[in-house]
Amino acid sequence: MDSKEKRIRQITQLYYSNKAVQDVLLKFASEREVVPRYFEGFGKRPDILQYSSDVMGAVRKGATSFHVSEEIWHDPLGLSSEITSKEMDSLRKGWDLLIDIDSPFLDCSKIASLLIIKTLEEYGIKKYGVKFSGSKGFHIIVGNGAFPEEFNEEKKSVSFPEWPRAICEFITNKIRPEYNREIGKMDINFAALETRTKIKKEDLKEAVCPECSRPGKKGKIVKFKCPLCGTTIERKNVKITKKRLKCLNEGCAGILKVVDEKDYFHCEFCKKSSWDKFSGEESGRKIVYAEKKQDAEDFEEGLSGNKMASLDLVLVAPRHLFRMPYSLHEKTALASVVISKSEIENFSPKDANPMKVKIREFMPENKKGEATRLLVDALLWKRARDSEEQEVYEKKYEGKKFEGKDFDYSNVDERDFPPAIKKLLKGLEDGRKRGLFVLLTFFKSIGYGAEEINKKTREWNGRNEPPLKEGYIRSQVDWHLKQQKKILPPNYSNDAFYRDIGILKEKPKTKNPLVDVMRKIRDRK
Ligand SMILES: [Zn+2]
Ligand SMILES: [Zn+2]
Repeated sequence: MDSKEKRIRQITQLYYSNKAVQDVLLKFASEREVVPRYFEGFGKRPDILQYSSDVMGAVRKGATSFHVSEEIWHDPLGLSSEITSKEMDSLRKGWDLLIDIDSPFLDCSKIASLLIIKTLEEYGIKKYGVKFSGSKGFHIIVGNGAFPEEFNEEKKSVSFPEWPRAICEFITNKIRPEYNREIGKMDINFAALETRTKIKKEDLKEAVCPECSRPGKKGKIVKFKCPLCGTTIERKNVKITKKRLKCLNEGCAGILKVVDEKDYFHCEFCKKSSWDKFSGEESGRKIVYAEKKQDAEDFEEGLSGNKMASLDLVLVAPRHLFRMPYSLHEKTALASVVISKSEIENFSPKDANPMKVKIREFMPENKKGEATRLLVDALLWKRARDSEEQEVYEKKYEGKKFEGKDFDYSNVDERDFPPAIKKLLKGLEDGRKRGLFVLLTFFKSIGYGAEEINKKTREWNGRNEPPLKEGYIRSQVDWHLKQQKKILPPNYSNDAFYRDIGILKEKPKTKNPLVDVMRKIRDRK
């Protein structure tokens, strides 16, 4: 037994034998899954706490902490890994919004927590619970009752994890500029950080788009000058090594030389750029000048809060568990204590000493519909954002040069499909829209006709949990069928389309699923 384990084992018996602790655990456990953790591993699922004596029962078997669902169930014991998400939906009564702020640094978590609370308050949410996670973070909760039972003909009980995920994403995006600004003010020992994380200070920076708060992309403005006649031009993102630009001045034989380089930022989604370009004509040739924007709101380059202390608020998933209020934390031997907003700033881990806990209520008494406005804004924002991103991705992959452009796929067989596509075809729970994009671009690229695409896409959707709405499928299929240009499936290196939606475990040696198919067909011949 290592020292950490020894330390926690010494206090578990004593701590959980406190009646007040047992009662608070039991109260929160109502209609939820509660799973004990036995120092290293979790107990069997599903499980519940039914009587306060269950707490000590688990502790006697070696439990060190208790974890609870943010979902509220009609019958938590009816859950199993076998049931479909439809069955899960009918078991689900509701859910609390649980924002899990867990950065590697307590101070960053404090900053994030205060900014998140500020956002909640701006949306008129007066009641929320805050607790220490037991390690380096905080948990913020807004109760089930704060959300409407229905919105846009969607029931709340079946809108998990979509609604809370949209809210978490919306809030993360909203606080990003200020989070970065605050992190930038912190006294950070970058040398120590680099030894620990191998990340240099330079790589911890990002520039936030003033329009949409997404991280901007860095580009270079290169200034050229003709050594003979002195003509200067500025261009964006020129690959200097390859190009030998001739002087634009007619009759001048000079080769332009790079005299200056500077960074600029642009947003690939909303097209905002920190530099204006304006076209001009010189000696009959079109050229593009770049000029620093004069408007007030510009890309703000600073330390990236996300890279420094990732918030990962969006990891809301079905049957996700979080540490119960007043549970211990096995690594720190601290208690997950409830605190108030005003205590966040000066909170210190010693305030979570399990031997000194005073029990307070974590679950806020929310007014009905208190969080409706936040929900509506988050869902609208998310919808606009998704379609914006899809448009950009579509453009990105449209008409790209590809080694097998005119390859004959006429003998293609489903057995030739690479593992990622086969996995995708089994149906998805997460990232169904992105999955559909991969599927449609793939089907079209291998030469499937309209009828086949329509049929196979519907079959696939039937295997999704839950299926996408028919209206959405139809609009996407129609759009893809209409496109004259070739839109290739995204490359494997694009995590959003493969790794993140769980269809790719290891990066294949090839770049694109089409390459795999071509090879298979060639091998067969
Ligand atoms: Zn933008
Ligand atoms: Zn010249």
